[in-house]
Amino acid sequence: MTSRRSLPRSAAAVLGLSLTLTAVPAAADARPPAAPTAPTVSEQQVMPHLRALQRIADRNGGNRAHGTKGYAHSVSYVRSALDRAGFRTKLVPFTHDGATGYNLIADWPGGDPDHVLMTGAHLDSVKEGPGINDNGSGSVAVLAAALQVAESGLKPRRHLRFAWWGAEEQGLIGSADYVGKLSEADRRKIDVYLNFDQAGSKNTQQWFVVHDDEHGETEAQQAFEAWFAERDIPTFDIGVGGSDHESFGNAGIPSSGFSTGISDCIHEACDNLANVDPKTEKTSTDAIVGVLWKLAATAPRH
Ligand SMILES: [Zn+2]
Repeated sequence: MTSRRSLPRSAAAVLGLSLTLTAVPAAADARPPAAPTAPTVSEQQVMPHLRALQRIADRNGGNRAHGTKGYAHSVSYVRSALDRAGFRTKLVPFTHDGATGYNLIADWPGGDPDHVLMTGAHLDSVKEGPGINDNGSGSVAVLAAALQVAESGLKPRRHLRFAWWGAEEQGLIGSADYVGKLSEADRRKIDVYLNFDQAGSKNTQQWFVVHDDEHGETEAQQAFEAWFAERDIPTFDIGVGGSDHESFGNAGIPSSGFSTGISDCIHEACDNLANVDPKTEKTSTDAIVGVLWKLAATAPRH
């Protein structure tokens, strides 16, 4: 456990952000320029996606585990929402334990391809339950954030890529497959990977922000801690590990993100819709959006 350093709220950072966004030249297409402040979502913009994942589990034997129809339908659901919004999506198959798994990768057109800001969550559940908090909650928070990018017509300086991983519950298989297939050059293009595993836990008192021991306090960690501090929401540092950011960490890619903590129903049949607090889910989504907006507009440091 590392100690949390409080971050001075910098007016210059805000000014820098708005200047940056104003400086983006008017595009040839009809999209309006991005607003200087990040949007927020309503519970109604997030919870329907979680209800959809619950229905998918209900129709497919009660789970969305690797190699099942429940997982395949979860991937199709998320992919169609992204396709409709204008993302470039692809399914990347891998084989594990005798079954085909899929990672879903979605790129938002534009931004510097040499500086990728990657945001992800595992979409699979365990066989024992529908996995609505672990990790439907992280998956739909990332989805809702991506849809905000599209709705706002965000023109990021960095390239934005989103990912939903398969077979995390079998040992981070999907994310390890993705990272393992990257060339050294492509690996270096990822400025930071942001991971969200359990974003809607009930009785959340504090958000557990990922601190990357290898890379020190990343700009992403600072941005998350600043976002929560501005709203008087307590945070606590946790190390890289236990979810897909570990695959990135193993490859030397900086990471951050957060979790709202492990629920009593983790990996059980009771990890259903009732195991998610809609207010926490909304706050998590807003935090992702806020930090994406900040990092998307920030000039890369290297
Ligand atoms: Zn998980």
